[in-house]
Amino acid sequence: MDWTVKHEFDIPTFVQQLVEEARALPATGKVADYIPALANVKPEQVGLALATIDGKLYSAGDAQTGFSIQSISKILGLVMAMNRVGDSLWQRVHMEPSGLPFNSIVQLEYEHGIPRNPFINAGAILIADVLVKHYSASRQAFISFIRQLAGCEQIFVDEGVFQSEKQHGSRNAAMAYLMKSFGNIEADVERVLEHYFYQCSVTLSCQQLATSLTFLANRGVHPQTNGMICSRRDAHRVNAILSTSGMYDQSGEFAFTVGLPAKSGVGGGIVAIVPGYGVICAWSPRLNHFGNSCLGMHMITRLAEQLGLSVY
Ligand code: GLU
Repeated sequence: MDWTVKHEFDIPTFVQQLVEEARALPATGKVADYIPALANVKPEQVGLALATIDGKLYSAGDAQTGFSIQSISKILGLVMAMNRVGDSLWQRVHMEPSGLPFNSIVQLEYEHGIPRNPFINAGAILIADVLVKHYSASRQAFISFIRQLAGCEQIFVDEGVFQSEKQHGSRNAAMAYLMKSFGNIEADVERVLEHYFYQCSVTLSCQQLATSLTFLANRGVHPQTNGMICSRRDAHRVNAILSTSGMYDQSGEFAFTVGLPAKSGVGGGIVAIVPGYGVICAWSPRLNHFGNSCLGMHMITRLAEQLGLSVY
């Protein structure tokens, strides 16, 4: 990759322009409301941040406004579980794309309660089981991990979203009980679900998320603290699964057009990892029919194109 091109380019101005460009686009898509508390968000918000591994942070728009990270939390849960149990994890969850919606239950029955990958709901619930089993206080461990990565103690769970998820989580509960029936959930299902809903309900801003995940662009080492967050091999593995399964049923198209490991959440956030360079986080609450933020997709696509960031 030709890094000189990037350094000559005026990134701060371009990041600002992208937010303005996104704001000027006609409003398309819909805010997620299947978890009712998620609908209490101003839909027109747009934020963009780029954190580089050499310590620069570019951002624009609502990049300091907290939003519900939802499925983006699955990345952090996975890293914690990999650190805790090592390779035995991959006997209980696989690393293949599912080809089905993130909350689909049918595949689980055919495949004997083993989720296709850690980024669909069944997979993340399985990971929650590992965390509940291996930490005496898994929720506390999870929030402490994020605070450490973001370098900020003021990170919290949105209690309203947390309660709303619990009240409307029947499908997730069904998946958890199905996995339990196959012997692939070890802990008490209610505790596992509590952990899963809790981690989805964490609030972070684009700036905080981009900064927190820079270790994945830097072979597992957090560039701000030099602390090793995961092994180089595991950083590679997380990025590989993100590339094939991080963007719901649009993962193939995202690889085709953008070419970066990425994860989105139904709160409207998207993070994209640029190995050796940094992390982009875009946020805007209106989602396309795959569940990916419409304006987030637009901004990340443009930024990756302009800076030539594709890993392929
Ligand atoms: N908490 C959400 C759910 O379980 C997460 C979905 C997502 O962001 O993909 O349905």
